[in-house]
Amino acid sequence: MNTVGHFKITEIDESRVEGFDIENSGFGKVFSDHMLQADYEDDKWQTAEIKPYGPLEVTPALNVFHYGQSVFEGTKAYYAGDKTINLFRPEANYKRFVKSCERMCIPPIYKETFIGGIEELIKLDHRWVPRTKGHSLYIRPFACAWDHVVSANIAESYKFFIITSPVGAYHSGLVSLITSEHYVRAVEGGVGEAKTAGNYAASMFPAKKAKERGFDQVLWLDAFEHTYIEEVGTMNIFFVIDDILITPPLRGSILPGITRDSVIKLAKSWNIEVRERPVSIDEVIEAGQNGSLQEAFGAGTAATIDAVKEIHHRGTTIPIHENKRGELAEKIYKNLTGIQYGTVDDPFNWVHPVGV
Ligand SMILES: *Cc1c(COP(=O)(O)O)cnc(C)c1O
Repeated sequence: MNTVGHFKITEIDESRVEGFDIENSGFGKVFSDHMLQADYEDDKWQTAEIKPYGPLEVTPALNVFHYGQSVFEGTKAYYAGDKTINLFRPEANYKRFVKSCERMCIPPIYKETFIGGIEELIKLDHRWVPRTKGHSLYIRPFACAWDHVVSANIAESYKFFIITSPVGAYHSGLVSLITSEHYVRAVEGGVGEAKTAGNYAASMFPAKKAKERGFDQVLWLDAFEHTYIEEVGTMNIFFVIDDILITPPLRGSILPGITRDSVIKLAKSWNIEVRERPVSIDEVIEAGQNGSLQEAFGAGTAATIDAVKEIHHRGTTIPIHENKRGELAEKIYKNLTGIQYGTVDDPFNWVHPVGV
C-alpha cells in the first residue's frame, strides 16, 4: 500500500480488463478494477482508500437498508486520445453532492476526496474507458449511513464510495412518455431536488405501470395540481414551441441536472430564446395538436439527449419525433458530446482533462 496525496492506494495485482468487452458492456453491470472508500468515524472523514473493487461485509442491521439515508452522483469520463481522459464539470457534481448530503443529514465529503478521488481512479483504470463514441466510463460517487442499528435516527457513521463502470447508450435515443394521473415523484419541501436513493424507490411502481402500458417512462407532473410538467425518470425535459426552448423551472421538486444547465447555456450562446417557466401538460398537448410543438427531448448524463417519441396524457397521445432527434436537440447533442470527447471547442471551460 502506498499513500499518494490524500489517498492510501492498494493496486490490484492483475487487471481484469482483458476479460471484458468494455465497448459492449451494457449499462452498470461491469465494474472496473479499483474503487474508492472513505469512512466517517469519530466526527470526521478518515483518509480515503483506493483498493481493488470487491464486496463489502455488513450485517442485516445496517441502517441504510432500513431508512435509506443515502445520496449519489453520476458523471462520466470520456476517451479523448491516448493520453487524455475528459471529465465533464465535476465541480458541479461536487456542489450538488454537498447539497444532497445536507438535505439527507450526511456529512459532505471533502472536495479533494471527491474530485481528486475520481482523478486517481481514472489514472489507475484508464484502460476501462471505452473508445467508441457515445460510450464512456460511468462514475458513481455515493455516500450512505453505516451504523449497524435498526433505529430511525441520524447515523453516526457513514461511508463514501466511488465506483466506475464502462457504459454504452442508456436508451435507444428515443423515449415514449406517459403522465401519471395519480402518482407523483416529488413535492416541494420533499427530497425531489436531492439525488437520493428514495426518489428512485418511489418512482418504480408508477414506472412499472407505464411500461405495462407500453411506454418507456413516466412524465412527472407537479404534486399539487397535476398540471405542470416536472421531469422524466433520469432526465430533465425540454420543449421547443414557436422557436423558444422551454424547460420547467427549478422550484424544489425537480432534480437540478448538470446536462439541463449545459443545454440552457449552449442554447443561449447560440442566441436561442430560452425560458425556464412552468409548462403545463395542456399547453404541450395543445401545441402538439396545433403544430407549434417543434421538439421535445430529455437531458441527463446517462442518456445525454433523448428525443421524445410521443406523450400520452389521459387518453390523448401526441406523436412528436418518429425516429430521430429534432434539429435543435441534434445540434445540442453534437456540441455537448463534441465538447465531452474533446473534438469541439469548449467555450465554457467545462472539460476537466485527466492525463493518463
Ligand atoms: C441525475 C438526474 C437527472 C439528470 O441530472 P444530470 O446532472 O444531467 O445527469 C435528472 N433527473 C433525475 C431524477 C436525476 O436523478
